[in-house]
Formats: sequence, structure tokens, C-alpha cells
Amino acid sequence: MQKDFVKLELSKEAMKTFGYQIVDAIVEHHHTQKEKPPVALKSREEMDSIFLEEAPEGPMDEKEVLDFVLDKVMTNSTLISHPKMYSFVPGPSNFISVMADALATGYNVFSGGWVTSPSASELEIITIQWLLKMFGFPQKMGGGIFTSGGSMANLTALTTARRIKCGQDFSKAVIYLSDQAHSSNIKAIRVLGFKKEQIRIIPTDIEFKFAINKLKSCISRDRLEGLHPFCVIATSGTTNTGTVDPLSKLAKVCKEEDIWFHIDGAYGGAAILSPKGKKLLKGINKADSLTIDPHKWMFQPYEMGCLLVRNHKHLSHTFTEKPEYLRDIEGNTSEINFYDHGIQLTRRFRALKFYMSIKTFGLQAFRDAISYGIDLAEKVESHLRKSKSWEVVFPATLAIINFRFNSIRIELSEEELDEINQYISAKVVASREALLVTTILQGQVVLRMCLINPRTTFEDVKDTLAQCRKFANQFLEKKKVLS
Ligand SMILES: *Cc1c(COP(=O)(O)O)cnc(C)c1O
Repeated sequence: MQKDFVKLELSKEAMKTFGYQIVDAIVEHHHTQKEKPPVALKSREEMDSIFLEEAPEGPMDEKEVLDFVLDKVMTNSTLISHPKMYSFVPGPSNFISVMADALATGYNVFSGGWVTSPSASELEIITIQWLLKMFGFPQKMGGGIFTSGGSMANLTALTTARRIKCGQDFSKAVIYLSDQAHSSNIKAIRVLGFKKEQIRIIPTDIEFKFAINKLKSCISRDRLEGLHPFCVIATSGTTNTGTVDPLSKLAKVCKEEDIWFHIDGAYGGAAILSPKGKKLLKGINKADSLTIDPHKWMFQPYEMGCLLVRNHKHLSHTFTEKPEYLRDIEGNTSEINFYDHGIQLTRRFRALKFYMSIKTFGLQAFRDAISYGIDLAEKVESHLRKSKSWEVVFPATLAIINFRFNSIRIELSEEELDEINQYISAKVVASREALLVTTILQGQVVLRMCLINPRTTFEDVKDTLAQCRKFANQFLEKKKVLS
């Protein structure tokens, strides 16, 4: 008997065979993904033509299902861990954590409360302690929680900020963020039910940094109008340019004004582990709450975000509810029930992958992998600066570089420059050889590379730049023909 359908079980042998096939597929993918095109470009119609069906009443052989999935599903996703995936924020991941996730899911560990899983809770406490130390947060008083990602960490932070600073009534509360802040913050603010009139988006300066003076005058104006400034959101490593807001100055303003200081370090926070990053992130330890996102630059597979707080009691004050069915499992206060520190009750065991990967590779390996990305972006910048075809629009910062095609030999208008860079990106993506999309900086269309994958080589980048050059020439040829 291979399967017991009522119990939803396989025989022990069938389980092993099935499991090993999946492990083999993952390992094979890891070792061959560099040769695969990273970009999946498929329409809804194409996907429907493969997958659309009613939920099947009858069974199918598990191997057949797996083969179909490997052939049709896994091949139709963009490879976020691919060395030539330069856009958004890549997800380099690591195999130890992938297997840790399998283990956590295989045992189906419930990481909500101490009683159900003392070791999972303890590992979350311990790894959060590691992170608090890395970021210079107070270790005794500080705390935190792992979340599904940076968006949920920001939502958890802003919920806490509001609870602590406003109590029940937030009708006059005002929140401040810069025009470079990540969209997840605005989403969180909306989820929390703030009105548009309660949000101040402060324009950034020419370096895309939070403009302190504009913030200060905005706060004063709001106070004069009887409003209650309660939270400032800074970004330490904007997604666009890697820019770090003036954290120490912002912390000072917040302290003077009794405002909650939240830092969104989902992109750049991890750089604290490298010497260059540590310098850039000076002041990050002054936050009341800090979002980091281990599934980005700490090389964890999805989903893993994290919120750190200066005072762990702020989380428990915000999220503790006492329903009668959880009455018996309260326990000792040092034995944290993470359902009291965030939004989720049932939670997967996220700490395990972080724990196992750091134990296995050691923190120094993480430091080196992060430094590698910062150095690679700087190397790409000097390479671009040596060329007559490229303009560095914003210097390499925390492994992000923004540039555009702009030849000193050919006079092109701003419109033509936008057009040609858009064209280059579209062609590269259509070739499926690399994922390189544009962003807008000060009204200009620019190419953006985020180089946090330690398996991306300088050769990979040069390859892609050569491809870009080819498409630029193609565009110029076509223009000549037309004009
Ligand atoms: C990626 C990112 C987020 C959102 O994190 P998710 O893990 O995608 O939910 C928030 N802020 C910044 C600065 C980011 O780069």
C-alpha cells in the first residue's frame, strides 16, 4: 500500500522516494540556475492554458504531479536568486536555510507560544538577541519578533508606535516619512486607518535624504494647529538608491519632540555587518523600532522579516490579548509567547533557518558576503566612470548603483535619453538573459542594479553591460534610419 487516502499518508518508502526527489531537484536547480534564463515572461493566457482545471476528485501519482510541477511551475518563475537578477531586491538565499525551512515545516513546529514550543521560542529569543547586539540596541530591555517580511515588520512597528504614543485616540495623530520611504509604510498607515490628512510626505534633498529642516518646520506647523506628531519613519538604505537618512539628527528631533522614531532598514540594515555599512548606518541604534529583512541581504529564503524594538514591553503592551483558551499557557514572563509580541498567533518557525545558517557558516561569512556586494557595486561604478557611454546618476551606495546610457560622443535630448534607457531595459528583459529594470530619479529614467547576491561576479555585470551597449547601438541605428 503506497498511500492511505483517508489518513493522507504515504508509505515510509514512498515518502523517502518523494522527499529525495525534491531534494535532488532543489540541489540540481541550485547548481544549474546560472545557465538558466532568470526572467519568466508569461501571460495569464499562457499560464491558464497549462494550469486551468477544476479541483480533481480523483488521485494522481505523486511522481507525476511532481514532474509536472518541476516542468511547468518551477520553470515559470523569475529566478530571484540568479546572479543576473539585478532588479528590485534580489533574494540570494542559502541552502542551509532552505533545508532548515523543510525541517521546520516537516515537524510543523508551532512557533506561537512557549508551551507548544519552548525550543522554537528560545531560538527566537536568542537570535533576536544576536540581532539586537549587531544593531547596538539595549539587550536587556530590547526585544523583537520575526515576521513574514519587511512589510509586516513595518505594520507591527507602526501599530506599536501608535499604541504607545497615542493610546486609544489617534484622531489628531500625524506621521512623517520621506518621499523615498518604501510603499509598505504607506500601506501600513492605511491598514491602521489613518486619514490622508494625517500623513506628511516630506520631500528629500538632492541626495535623496530626509530633509531635516523641512521636517522640523512641518512638525512645528502641525503642533500650532493642535495636531499630535507621533511618529517619524526614516529609511536606512532606500530601495531606489541605498541612501541612508541622517539617522542621528532625526533621532535628536524625535527625542526633543517626544516622537516615536521608526527606521525601515528592510533593504540596508544588514549592512551593519560590514565595516563600510556600519559607518553609513551610524545612529541606527537610536531607533525606537527597526525593521530589518533577513530574506533580503541576510540571505534567508522567503519569508523572513524582523522587527527590533528598544523596549520589548512596548510590543507586549500593544499585542497582548487574553482569550480564555490561552489562559492555561501563560507561564513565566521570561518565557515569551510570541503571539503576544505581534499580529500572528499560529506562526511558522522562522528562527530556525536564521539560527542554522549562522551556526553553520559563522557570522564572519555573512560579513564577507555583505562586504562583497558593497565592493562589487563600487567596482561597477568605477568601471562605468571609465567608459564614454555610461553616466553614473547616483554613486554606488549599499550595493545599489544607478546609471544610464549617455554617450559623450552623441548629443541626445533628455527625452531621447529616457527613451534609449527604457529601450535598453526592455530589450535586456525580453532577451531573458538578465533582469534589469529602470527606476526614476529626479525625473530621469535610469538603470538600477542591486548587487547583494554574493554569487554575482564582476564578469556577470560586464556581460550585461555589454548586452546593454549592443541594444543602445541598435536604438541609435534605428533612430538614424528614421531621421
Ligand atoms: C523590501 C522593502 C520593504 C518590504 O519588505 P517585504 O519583505 O517585501 O515585505 C520595506 N522597506 C524597504 C526599504 C524595502 O526595501
